Amino acid sequence: MNRLGIYVQVPFCQTKCTYCNFHTGVVSSARFAPYVNCVCEEIRRHRTFYPAAGVILPAGIADTVVDTVYIGGGTPSLLDPAHLGRIVEAVRENFAAELREVTLEADPETASESKAAAWVAAGINRVSFGVQSFCDEELQAAGRMHRRADVYRTAPILRAAGISNISFDLIAGLPKQTRESWRESLDALVELAPEHVSIYLLEVDEGSRLGGELLRGGKRYSAGDVPSDDEMAEFYETGCAVLEAAGYRHYEISNWAKPGFASRHNLKYWRREAYLGFGAGAHSFSGTERWANVHDAAGYVNAVMAGRLPVEQHEVLTAESALEEELFLGLRQLEGIDLERIERQYGVSLDSRFARLTSAGLIEREGSVARLAPERISVSNEVFVELMK
Ligand code: SF4
Repeated sequence: MNRLGIYVQVPFCQTKCTYCNFHTGVVSSARFAPYVNCVCEEIRRHRTFYPAAGVILPAGIADTVVDTVYIGGGTPSLLDPAHLGRIVEAVRENFAAELREVTLEADPETASESKAAAWVAAGINRVSFGVQSFCDEELQAAGRMHRRADVYRTAPILRAAGISNISFDLIAGLPKQTRESWRESLDALVELAPEHVSIYLLEVDEGSRLGGELLRGGKRYSAGDVPSDDEMAEFYETGCAVLEAAGYRHYEISNWAKPGFASRHNLKYWRREAYLGFGAGAHSFSGTERWANVHDAAGYVNAVMAGRLPVEQHEVLTAESALEEELFLGLRQLEGIDLERIERQYGVSLDSRFARLTSAGLIEREGSVARLAPERISVSNEVFVELMK
């Protein structure tokens, strides 16, 4: 039986990175404690909050064993470790919890010996480090607070505190990144040997200052020094080769892991398993419905203090949208999807859609399993566009 995941959103940061398109804000630390109180209150009262907000949980979901917690952001490592401990405790007290993986997203400059020890005491056993680059010039151009030396200083601190599952994020396409500096970041990462790696391509949209500048053809935020799309694709492919040679298994478009260290929590997203999200902007999926809380942290706190769940998006999935999710989310996993199972479950034939993709060399078939062709992953968007036709 599938286990439930819990996601907790902490939408606070120290500064705003130029490429950031998340709903996060820089606020006084005085606002952290009231926010954490509301998250704990939402966890405690979710069974009464949901029906009042029109969300119907399938029978038994709320009693399903929770095995993963993911505290993301924002920069949740900014919170006092005691606050993080209260959040994990609230999950333990209000769900049937057998926690196997409790992840904290952390920025390297926020870690210290005392904090790392307190994180472990709070039950955190996995840290996802927002490294992004090992090149100080790139970090500075992107508005990051940490530098390469912070990663070297704090990774051993996490190890010494007993965190044996560490993930590093890198971004391909940061301003000032070159073929050589990207290779340097990959080599430095491999040398530090995290158990898990995520590589994201720089997203260009109006949601970030850098993205907006790029779309307008401006030069602010080092927009003139952003690598081209072709270079980004090349960086991604170099990343695939370097990580594979270093013993990492590429298991999702953006994720690699040493054997046994694929993210249990994130796998639930791509496998369409249920998870409940708490906090401002947190998304939830029950198997039949998706909903999200308001993004605005102050609005979220006010609503929870007034005794209601501030849901701003809510969708009861149709069979058609569930099928689309099966394809789009499922194909992100490199092991692929079982077309026979999906055809049976949804009463559809996918033959013609997949025949086109297979003959174009974008999809590889093995019996009823369809997966992205390994050498064409960097152009996987073409697959998703074709599937929409
Ligand atoms: S630390 Fe992450 S969430 Fe915060 S501003 Fe930077 S990119 Fe955005």
